[in-house]
Amino acid sequence: MTVRHRPKVRRWREETSQGEAWCYTVRCSCEAEFDEHYTKRLAENDKAKHLIEVAPPHSERCRDPRKHRCQSWDRCPVCADQLTLPGFESLEVAG
Ligand SMILES: [Zn+2]
Ligand SMILES: [Zn+2]
Repeated sequence: MTVRHRPKVRRWREETSQGEAWCYTVRCSCEAEFDEHYTKRLAENDKAKHLIEVAPPHSERCRDPRKHRCQSWDRCPVCADQLTLPGFESLEVAG
């Protein structure tokens, strides 16, 4: 099964010893765990790192994300299968 990653930075107010502060963290559709940060930049860093970690090999990434309704870090079945030898399609049955 293909896991889609759609990480988003979330923020909320939190009471700290310095008073109220914004907290930021990343939530992804894959339910990976992310650290909490006090700056958005660090959360954005986590998000970028996550996308690098989860990205498939270049040959399996989408080369036409808009047409295939993928994100550039998704494994695109359409594009990946272009490199698959005939006869291997049966291995791709979703389940
Ligand atoms: Zn993810
Ligand atoms: Zn594609």
